[in-house]
Amino acid sequence: MDVASLLARRALQIDVSGIRRVFELGSKLTDPINLSIGQPDFPVPPAVKQAAIDAIRADQNGYTLTQGTAPLRQRIARHLASDLNWPTIGPGAPGIAVTSGTSGALLLAFLSILNPGDEVVIPDPYFVVYPPLAEMCGARAVLADTYPDFRLTAARVEPLLTSRTKIVLLNSPSNPAGVVAREQDCRDLLDLCRSRNIVLISDEIYDAFTFSDGRTQRDPSGHLRCPTPARFAGSHESMLLVRGFGKTYGCTGWRLGYAAGPAPLIEQITKLQQYTFVCAPAPLQAGAAAALDTDVGDFVHDYEQRRDLVVEKLSRVTELTPPCGAFYAFPKVPEHLGLTGSQFAERCIEHKVLLIPGRVFSARDTHIRLSFAAPRAKLEQGLDIIARLMRP
Ligand code: PMP
Repeated sequence: MDVASLLARRALQIDVSGIRRVFELGSKLTDPINLSIGQPDFPVPPAVKQAAIDAIRADQNGYTLTQGTAPLRQRIARHLASDLNWPTIGPGAPGIAVTSGTSGALLLAFLSILNPGDEVVIPDPYFVVYPPLAEMCGARAVLADTYPDFRLTAARVEPLLTSRTKIVLLNSPSNPAGVVAREQDCRDLLDLCRSRNIVLISDEIYDAFTFSDGRTQRDPSGHLRCPTPARFAGSHESMLLVRGFGKTYGCTGWRLGYAAGPAPLIEQITKLQQYTFVCAPAPLQAGAAAALDTDVGDFVHDYEQRRDLVVEKLSRVTELTPPCGAFYAFPKVPEHLGLTGSQFAERCIEHKVLLIPGRVFSARDTHIRLSFAAPRAKLEQGLDIIARLMRP
C-alpha cells in the first residue's frame, strides 16, 4: 500500500524542518545548554497539584460538560470580572469554553470562523502554529511585518485587510519576541476590528509573565497588568480572549486553556469541541480552578530578573528589543557576522547552546529566539557564549 500517496496536502504542507534540525543537532550533544524550550522550569505549585490529585481520588475521572466543569467556568468568570471588568451574568455576558490547551482554543476558534479562502492577519514574527492552523481551515495567514519593534499596530494591520479578512490575531506578551502590546495599540486594533466586522483574537497565554518597563500598570495586589484589548468597555462582545494554564502554572502537559467572548462564537467552539476533543481533562480542570487562587508572583519576579540578565548581556553586542513579557528574547544576528539566523543558530549549537532560528517564526532569517526559562547558571553560561559569538 502506498500510504504516502494518500496523505493530505494540509499535513504535507506543514514544514517542521527548522525545528527538527535544532533537535537533531541537539540530540548529538551531551549536556547542552538548552535555551530552546518554550515552557517554564518551575514545578506546579503544591496546592494546584493537590487539587488535581484530590479530584482523581474523588473519582472525577469521567467526561465533563463539553464547555468545562461549572466550578472552573465560574472561577474563570470571576477572574475575568476582577482582571478585566467583564460581566459575569446577564444577556451580554461572555461565554466561556475550557479547552484542551490554548492550542485547542485557537484551533476551534479558527474552525468556527474561517471558510476556505478567508484570511487571518497575524504578526510576523509569529507563534509557529498560526499559519498551519489557518491552512488547516483552507484559509490563509497574511503576515503583518512588525520588525524591528515587534508591535502589531492598527497602522501595520489596516493595509492588509480585505473583504476576506475574518480574524486579526494579537499575541501579547509575544512568542517569539517577548514584546507586550501598548495600551493604545490594543485600543486601536479593537476599534479597527470592530469597525470592519473582524474578530480580534487575543492570544494571552503569557499574560501572567508581564515585566516592568516603567510604563506597565499594577493591579491592586501589586502584580503588573498586561495591557490587553479586553480591558476596554464592551470588548467581551466583540473579541475572543484566549488564555491558558500551562505556562502560568508550569503544567503545559495538562493541556488546559480557555476561550472567552461573544456567546454565539463560544457556542460554535463548544459544538466543535464536542465532536473533536470532547472535553478538557476532568481532574485537571479541578487543578485549574485551584490554580486561579494561586499566586505565581515569585516565579514571575524571578523571570523578570533573568530578563534583565539577557538584556544586560546581549544588548551590548546586538540589536535587542527588550522583552517585557513571556520568557523569550529575539535578538538580531549582528550584520558584521554575515550570517543568517539559521547559520548563527547552528554555530551556537556547535558551542553547545541550543536555540531556535528566527526563520521558524518568520518570513525573515535574521534573528534567533532564546528562552530564558532555564536555570540561571545555565542561562548565564549560554548568554556568555552567544555574546562572544556575536562580537566582531
Ligand atoms: N500561543 C502561544 C503564543 C504559545 O507560545 C503557545 C505554546 N508555546 C500556545 C499558544 C499553545 O499553548 P498550549 O500548550 O496551552 O496549547
